[in-house]
Amino acid sequence: MTPDDEKFLRSAVELASKAGMSGERPFGSLLVGADGTVLIEDHNTVVSDADITAHPELKLARWAARELAPDVAAATTMFTSCQPCPMCATAIARSGLGRVVYALSAEQFEQVKPATPPLPPVLYDGPALFDVADTAVRDTPRRWTRRLATTSSQLKVVVGMNCGADRPHKANIPGG
Ligand SMILES: [Zn+2]
Repeated sequence: MTPDDEKFLRSAVELASKAGMSGERPFGSLLVGADGTVLIEDHNTVVSDADITAHPELKLARWAARELAPDVAAATTMFTSCQPCPMCATAIARSGLGRVVYALSAEQFEQVKPATPPLPPVLYDGPALFDVADTAVRDTPRRWTRRLATTSSQLKVVVGMNCGADRPHKANIPGG
């Protein structure tokens, strides 16, 4: 980790602190381009948006996938006050961002956060109706795979529409 990394990481922590002081949950993140330019920053707005997914990492990953060409996204770093949770980590992987630098690890976060009850279990009941579901997927034209390896000067093509079963992630990592 370079001195510049630490500088940007401190900015993410400052965003988290401001969010926490304003009644939001204390998580903050920013994206920094290859030339050291801050592209965008945000903090957790789960409370004010009444949105359980309003984690800064997820919001920035969505922004990156929407606004950055793949080669630019790959050269962009996310700095974030806490190791991204599984939801955000998946979005980051799909966004094409190339690097994440975080302050608190998931384990460290667990040590310092207030005690909260575990999430209730969810029953996943399936698979079923393979013949029907399989047809729905097979009959879809193959234009929905992944962002193409275009350059920033080319038209950005972004479509990502698969079931999410292609990339396993670690479970039980709380955070931003
Ligand atoms: Zn998250």
